[in-house]
Amino acid sequence: AVILAGLYGKVPEWATVSLANLILLIAHLARIQSLRLDLGKPWRMRWMLAAVLIFMLVFEFLNYGLQDYLLRARLSSATSFGLVTYIVILAWRIGHNENSRSAQWIAGVYALVAMSMLFRFFSIQSTGSSILTDGSTAKVVAFVLLLSSVIGHFGYVGLALDRSMRRELKAAADLARDEENHRLGAQIAQLDRQRSLGEMSASLGHELNQPLTAVLSNAQVAKRGLEMGRFDSEQINEFLDKIIANTKRASQIIERIRGFIRPTTVHRKQVDLNLLIHDVAMLVADEADRNKVALTLPPANQSLSISADPIQISQIILNVIHNAIQAVMQSPLRKISVELTYQDEMAIVRIFDSGPGLAPEVLSQIGKPFFTTKVEGLGMGLSISRSIAEQHGGKLTLANGDNGGAVVTLTLPAITPGVVQ
Ligand code: ADP
Repeated sequence: AVILAGLYGKVPEWATVSLANLILLIAHLARIQSLRLDLGKPWRMRWMLAAVLIFMLVFEFLNYGLQDYLLRARLSSATSFGLVTYIVILAWRIGHNENSRSAQWIAGVYALVAMSMLFRFFSIQSTGSSILTDGSTAKVVAFVLLLSSVIGHFGYVGLALDRSMRRELKAAADLARDEENHRLGAQIAQLDRQRSLGEMSASLGHELNQPLTAVLSNAQVAKRGLEMGRFDSEQINEFLDKIIANTKRASQIIERIRGFIRPTTVHRKQVDLNLLIHDVAMLVADEADRNKVALTLPPANQSLSISADPIQISQIILNVIHNAIQAVMQSPLRKISVELTYQDEMAIVRIFDSGPGLAPEVLSQIGKPFFTTKVEGLGMGLSISRSIAEQHGGKLTLANGDNGGAVVTLTLPAITPGVVQ
């Protein structure tokens, strides 16, 4: 546009005036749009085209219709002044918001351009000349346009660089935060498991005691029988079988504890959800007995398979039953029941308790990390459980039951079609 304007008199007037003006207008609008995009509020293309069209119609009407060259030049200067001033305002706002030097440079340089346009507006006298050949303002305008095209455009490049650098920095920070969250989450889950294990140790001691006592008494009886020569080999065999069976049971229990406490990588396999519920119930049986809590489980012959990491799912159920035991201790009736159903290809575990239920303000906060109403609570159990359920394609919800008390529902995608009795 500037070159065309400079060639006034040497090329046809439609090129040096109309085309140059059109290009200049589009250039201003492109600069404005670029800044508005930066602010996240771009103008609609349709409106911009309409504005260009209206401007050109008015401009050509003055040019060819009225042949009022002074007014035409004033219109073009005033429009340029308005648009450039708007560029200054936008660039200033971005410079202020994002603390961007480049945007501040753009604002400064275009402020000069705006002033030169204003100067031209008031000083135009001759008619039928172009912006760069009009003697009185030509030098000023040419200098400012040159300055703006160098510094202004570097400003725009700088702004784009600023932006991409900021985006990269933000992406790096996000990544670091995700990794940190992941690591912390795993650590907290591990801590939570260890804490649960501490609370369960009484129950485990009790469980291990049974097979070990059986092993001891069987071995003692067999030894005495052998010493007294009263046992034949068949009887001895029987005692040895019992010893083997009880030793296996004890080592299974230990394996279960080891599996539970080990930091885990997710390990999915086909799991019988009912068996898993019964396994977990065994871990809390002693705690429930001690506190006189009646725990009702789904019938043992029921079976429903899911594809899941058994340790993680037992952690959810353990945590929910644990919370339920603590809740029912506050009420005279201490009942917890676990139900297992199948609906729409999902396995649904519902855990009802006869505790005080959940107050509305608690309900809205529940499951948020570190929300707890307990003096010694961590407030991580439900939030970890919820994310485990989600990782498995399911969900965990809490509500109040019809007869008071809380109902926790764990939904997980099932493998087998329906509950097999
Ligand atoms: P914590 O047990 O460490 O407090 P949780 O995330 O497991 O952490 O539980 C968060 C809160 O949810 C508990 O402090 C308790 O107020 C509430 N809550 C959980 N389960 C029940 C329940 N069955 N009945 C009543 N309140 C419950």
